[in-house]
Amino acid sequence: MRYKEELSRARQFLSASGRAKNGSSINDGRELTLLKNRAQCPHCGILFEGGNHNTEHIHPRALGGENTDRNRIQFCLACNNARNLVMQALLGHPPYFKNYPQNWPMVEEYLLWSEISIDDGLSAGNQVNSVHQKFLMYRFSGQVQPADLTSAYGRFSTWKKGDSPNYRQGTRQRLKRKQIVSQKPKRKGVFISVFDRLFGY
Ligand SMILES: [Zn+2]
Repeated sequence: MRYKEELSRARQFLSASGRAKNGSSINDGRELTLLKNRAQCPHCGILFEGGNHNTEHIHPRALGGENTDRNRIQFCLACNNARNLVMQALLGHPPYFKNYPQNWPMVEEYLLWSEISIDDGLSAGNQVNSVHQKFLMYRFSGQVQPADLTSAYGRFSTWKKGDSPNYRQGTRQRLKRKQIVSQKPKRKGVFISVFDRLFGY
């Protein structure tokens, strides 16, 4: 199942009353590479320059995400902020174990959206549509700005000199069209069964 590891890490973290510890930014070498290669924000396509970007932990630290290179990605400040707003809208204020396990369905939704929208590109986030719409609202007032990405770095980028950014290349295979779910689930039962099919529970 896709993201099984991440979900079980979040469960363990919340079960153990975990509190977020500070995470670190991408390292200086990577930041330099981003600026030198005129990298774009992987969501909106804005060119990174000066201090207009920030590091996001793909699996949030507040949900047990690791402080590792593999779990870090650089976003523009606006996208980074909108993602945080979405998480707060769904989960309230940390620590999130306070509302666990009642908040688990929301944690699961946010986490899956967070991973998919990064690994498969922003538009793939519509597979968890309720979360996706919140992001589009916070970031673009509901109007999607299609990004023309030519130089965006994801966590599968090699960062080796001369290699292309490979945000698209080397990512996990995109889900097939028929697997994409964009309907807002009305009932929890339906939602769970959608996830069953998507992620092979
Ligand atoms: Zn952005």
